[in-house]
Amino acid sequence: MQSFVYDALPSRVVFGTGSLDKLLDEIRRLDTHRALVLSTPEQRTMGADIAARLGAYSAGVFDGAVMHVPAEVAAAARDEAQRLGADCCVAIGGGSTTGLAKAIALSSGLPILVIPTTYAGSEMTPIWGLTESGVKKTGRDLRVLPKTVIYDPALTLSLPVAMSVTSGINAIAHCVEALYARDANPIISLIAVEGIRVLAGSLPEIVKQPDQLEARSNALYGAWLGGVSLGSVGMALHHKLCHTLGGTFSLPHAETHTVVLPHAVAYNTSDAPTAMERIARALGARSAADGLYDLAASLGAPVSLQALGMTRDQLDRAADLAVQNAYYNPRPITRDGIRSLLEDAFDGRRPR
Ligand code: NAD
Repeated sequence: MQSFVYDALPSRVVFGTGSLDKLLDEIRRLDTHRALVLSTPEQRTMGADIAARLGAYSAGVFDGAVMHVPAEVAAAARDEAQRLGADCCVAIGGGSTTGLAKAIALSSGLPILVIPTTYAGSEMTPIWGLTESGVKKTGRDLRVLPKTVIYDPALTLSLPVAMSVTSGINAIAHCVEALYARDANPIISLIAVEGIRVLAGSLPEIVKQPDQLEARSNALYGAWLGGVSLGSVGMALHHKLCHTLGGTFSLPHAETHTVVLPHAVAYNTSDAPTAMERIARALGARSAADGLYDLAASLGAPVSLQALGMTRDQLDRAADLAVQNAYYNPRPITRDGIRSLLEDAFDGRRPR
């Protein structure tokens, strides 16, 4: 017999090729009039295009978003929003730009509209992150949940293939951990299985033909499902490990998720058999861990932490940090278990 609690998150999603044309309607729908547009320096041109589309509804562009939302960047962006009299933010980009919009919302209460261009999924979550003196804090607050998300697959055509693959596997990771979450529920589990299925099917198509709009659309649909999964139920070992590795050793976000995922899944296999069966079936694989490892390898993604710049002498510290704070995981966390998981991930071995 089932027993669960399900909380729906209030956000509006506008999906489809060409949906960017609805931007102005969506801004008016929010009853806002002066949007500060946010982007990274690399996506400055996309930011300028959004400002041009907004016309009189644009307050200006802040193109200083960077990875992990440094507190000083968040403060500068919030000051700019205040100086320009902005009454909302429009973020175009990946998780870093969405993260900046969330930091502004956290301290100012301004509503956010997000136009995602990666598969990270932050746009569907009430989770914020802020880095102060090298330490990244995260928290949940409904004020940072974007009011509206416009998913236009055409905007992902420029996402390089290698980034598309690792970002897509980052989205798969959200779905995977949702299936064995402590607060898992039937709706999110259906969403998570569909997310894995559609991403595992579309990423190989993108590698073969990066400009194929249908595959791009399917992957972005999967990314949405991954974001919903991440935002709705609690994550476990895999996300905690990636957070520690990224924050302490400055490893790249999506690539770290790609390398660690098969090993975190192997670690949990014995204690979450139903979830593992569903993951394996969605991947069309013999086992969840093998399927995830083979998917990454077949797409040419990195499979070892060594390839991401980590060194073997950092493994002990990583294992110590990973067991410092208690958190839910299907299989109890032991230092020896995590140390051997990290060793396998470091060498890029097939998961055990
Ligand atoms: P990112 O946002 O850092 O983007 C990586 C690079 O790709 C940037 O230079 C960006 O400008 C560029 N880029 C993005 N889309 C592009 C496109 N379509 N074409 C060309 N270049 C493009 O990377 P990410 O993986 O999307 O986000 C990672 C960050 O998001 C991490 O800091 C992570 O912690 C955070 N995150 C937060 C949540 C949450 O719920 N709070 C969820 C997922 C990720």
